Amino acid sequence: MAKWTSGETMTPGKGNPFKLRVRTGTDVSPEMTNQITTTVSAARIAVEWTVGKLSALNALEPYTKACLTRAFNTPAGGPDQATFELIKTKYVKIQNGIADADLAVKVGPLNDANGSVAFYPNPGPNKLPALEWDTDTSSWAPGGYGQIKIDFDYLKKRSHETKFYRPVKTFIHEASHRFASTADFYYYTEKSGWEAEDGPAFQGTPDLEWLKDNADSYGWFAVWLYYFATV
Ligand SMILES: [Zn+2]
Repeated sequence: MAKWTSGETMTPGKGNPFKLRVRTGTDVSPEMTNQITTTVSAARIAVEWTVGKLSALNALEPYTKACLTRAFNTPAGGPDQATFELIKTKYVKIQNGIADADLAVKVGPLNDANGSVAFYPNPGPNKLPALEWDTDTSSWAPGGYGQIKIDFDYLKKRSHETKFYRPVKTFIHEASHRFASTADFYYYTEKSGWEAEDGPAFQGTPDLEWLKDNADSYGWFAVWLYYFATV
């Protein structure tokens, strides 16, 4: 029996339809189906907004700079050109990836994770790129992140995850793995702030060196920028 259904075509409020693939044996209620399409639409809008706010280094608004510092630990005055280009390029890749007509989202139980994207090997702190099996050369080649999987039931069960923007954050986090080669070095929670991937709460904000390739930084920056603008 296949692990995932072949997929139903969903039409979100914004952009191309995408395929919804459901873990075999999982019930997906109409309410959840609705939440998934809403999440994809909202993530597309939030990332488009983010790319717009990153149009040029010398045009960054104060709130954008503040969010960059919070998510990536860039200097308060703004990032340097190379860092700015790197972050912007990753968002453009995420934007294109989640807008693509080939987008598929898998939903179902995931062993207590909000979402995941399969990859091999785990890039970890040594920052090796993710690899995929190249059938032409019968070897591992860079770029092997699988489809985005989201566990909406798990997101809902955790009380601090029920806020409307959390599924959007999770989706952008996973999309950054898939389309922009990010890894999980640190996670951010509203309860404890930054936490190391395999360790306790981190005091303060981790270094830019790690955060510029960190999936949760991309998820949160777009959410802070789009949903929490105060200026
Ligand atoms: Zn991740």
